[in-house]
Amino acid sequence: MARSQPNCNAKGRPRALVPKALSPLTFVGYAKGARTPQNLIQPFSPALRGKAIPGNISEEECVSTDQEKLMVVTGAGGFIGGHLVSAFRARGHKAIRAVDIKPIENWYQHFSDVESLSLDLNSRENCETAARGAHSIYNLAANMGGMGFIEKNKALCMLSVLINTHMLQAAHKFEVPRFFYSSSACVYNADKQKTFEAPSLKEEDAYPAMPEDGYGWEKLFSERMCRHFREDFGLRTRMARFHNVYGTWGTWFGGREKAPAAICRKVIEAKKSGKHEIEIWGSGEQTRSFMYIDDCLKGIDLIMESDILEPINLGSSEAVTINQLVDITEEIAGIKLKRRYDLSAPKGVNGRNSDNTLIQELLHWEPSTPLRVGMEKTYRWIHDQFQARERGDGGVVREVYVAWH
Ligand code: NAD
Repeated sequence: MARSQPNCNAKGRPRALVPKALSPLTFVGYAKGARTPQNLIQPFSPALRGKAIPGNISEEECVSTDQEKLMVVTGAGGFIGGHLVSAFRARGHKAIRAVDIKPIENWYQHFSDVESLSLDLNSRENCETAARGAHSIYNLAANMGGMGFIEKNKALCMLSVLINTHMLQAAHKFEVPRFFYSSSACVYNADKQKTFEAPSLKEEDAYPAMPEDGYGWEKLFSERMCRHFREDFGLRTRMARFHNVYGTWGTWFGGREKAPAAICRKVIEAKKSGKHEIEIWGSGEQTRSFMYIDDCLKGIDLIMESDILEPINLGSSEAVTINQLVDITEEIAGIKLKRRYDLSAPKGVNGRNSDNTLIQELLHWEPSTPLRVGMEKTYRWIHDQFQARERGDGGVVREVYVAWH
């Protein structure tokens, strides 16, 4: 059945979410051991020419502009993966393979004209099924969630290493030209995130390594594996460190939701119940930055097309405290709530922001959707979802899609 789709205009036609990428060879990578953005930059390494791209494929052929070439998105049943598939479709890609462990009826976004596979990518065999014939792999599959999930499921989070290991091996085996890996700001050294003053984290702040226990270690390890597959086998890997992505068609209840969605839901619940109170995890003074999904998609595109060889921040640099995030949400909802702080709840590091010096320097771009604008859209969407659940429509994101024409 044709189902979906959130990203369409009034006439039901797809809306392009991802602007045309800049020239793939405009950008440059940064070298091992370099310290400053200036000397981090070097032209597409001559040493990698002919080696970086398997199967004697030229650098030009690595560009994803050919809409017939097969794009594989793992984690496509989830938040970012679902949006990425939607964006590829909107751009006219004809060959898309979407893969997720969830049964297809539980995917957040599902398109009847996209090859959709329900596969557990912990298994090497399934990764080979997913990777065969691909031109580009976007590996977004991971067992993850907000702090409430990752603090209580460290082993599960670390087991995602199987997904990335097997996807890299499969990409190498089938000589897939391009591989994108979604890393996280959770790779950053915890000692650099102790103050509430939103320390801006530069790419080099991941070392010496002391990432978020469980989830962060897995991400850091998988980054290294992507690097070594590039260096040793010539697989063209690209890596972005996402900082808190939020937006429509993401998890908003059930335990894996992240702060923006959880706060929207709690404000809606307080408004509906008439009990004008909200529980906040921690003191509310923790600082974070939040990137709207449209910026994330554009960043993925730019980084994949670039020659940036090492992991790079992909996040907003508009830092706010959790209290300020609640202020924004209350303002959107037109309500003021009494705040109750749960100091024993999972709250993560005290402060974190994205230092965007490098991405500005290399891509002449950074995520720029104002938090107020992105939260307005997210709040409205969660509000609709909430009402759908109240009506008995089921309340999970997949259940409010309209048919695609
Ligand atoms: P999500 O949970 O909505 O999507 C991840 C998807 O991966 C889920 O649909 C899940 O079913 C699938 N998956 C898990 N295990 C799998 C397996 N064994 N085989 C196949 N599929 C499997 O999460 P998201 O927010 O869309 O995140 C996508 C990626 O971005 C993840 O790698 C995540 O770690 C990374 N990331 C996200 C954020 C964020 O703020 N959302 C921040 C940093 C990094």
